Amino acid sequence: MANLLKIDQAIDNLFRYREIGVDPAFSRFIPMVYDPIHYAWRENFEPAFNQLFNGLMIKGDEEVGRVFLAVFPTDDVLTRFISEGKSGDLLFMHHPLVMECGDPKGEWGRGFVPISEHFIKQMKEKKLSVFTLHVPLDYSRTISTSDAVAEAIGAKVISEFFIEEKGACGVLCEISPISTEALIEKSKEIFSIPYADVEGPRHSDITKIAIAAGCGDKVYAMKEAEELGAQAYLTGEVHCHIDNDYGRKKYNEMKAYTKQTSMSLIGVSHAASEYLVHATQLKKWFTEQFEIPVTLIPQEKWWV
Ligand SMILES: [Zn+2]
Ligand SMILES: [Zn+2]
Repeated sequence: MANLLKIDQAIDNLFRYREIGVDPAFSRFIPMVYDPIHYAWRENFEPAFNQLFNGLMIKGDEEVGRVFLAVFPTDDVLTRFISEGKSGDLLFMHHPLVMECGDPKGEWGRGFVPISEHFIKQMKEKKLSVFTLHVPLDYSRTISTSDAVAEAIGAKVISEFFIEEKGACGVLCEISPISTEALIEKSKEIFSIPYADVEGPRHSDITKIAIAAGCGDKVYAMKEAEELGAQAYLTGEVHCHIDNDYGRKKYNEMKAYTKQTSMSLIGVSHAASEYLVHATQLKKWFTEQFEIPVTLIPQEKWWV
């Protein structure tokens, strides 16, 4: 057993989420998805979470017997957590909302999707806890979404790019010479994906690679990486496939950029690119810190 407040303290000591403050993304997206459906999210989520949009979102029993790690609160993830979790167990995720970016070979996505009310009710009834950590898990250079990718592909982080006000989402790395094709094959294996979303020229000797897990589908971030000498850019999405005007606009902007880029652009899905840190660095950290069992909940499908 581990104490929930001690777990929260240890997470804050490492990721400084209170110091980083209001999450720039989910402070906008949580009201954006729950307000139109008139869901009383402010009453159902913890008051401190409603201020920062990171931290303990749902607080169950204070003694934690097991930690579950997932990236998005998809229906399959929550169903498993609710059925396997016992009073006090904790689900730690990078996102408090599912992000459907679409499947490059399938259906386009709906963007941010709320958690169904019945799941929230069941988690509360079972006294389960939910903790989410968004930008602090992208910004840390000890354990992060992008650093975990660098570690898995055997690249060495040399600097940051894609810098926001409180931290950087991207890392620039050196890697032993590798071809675009080999990098794609390696990525398919690491991220357990059937295919990658690939654009740009193919190279035979990549030694500098930019990594931005998650939403790296930003032309300005790609241009920055290119100027820093990256020959390849590995991210969650190359193309945004969100089925609305915003998604189509982004898709067209990216299509134009892919015709002029000098980099190989490799997308491995938003979800899989950000799940990796849970399966590797976070699983190790939670196990060592609290000496309680840790269960991974991978999604059934990564290109959502
Ligand atoms: Zn992220
Ligand atoms: Zn993300």
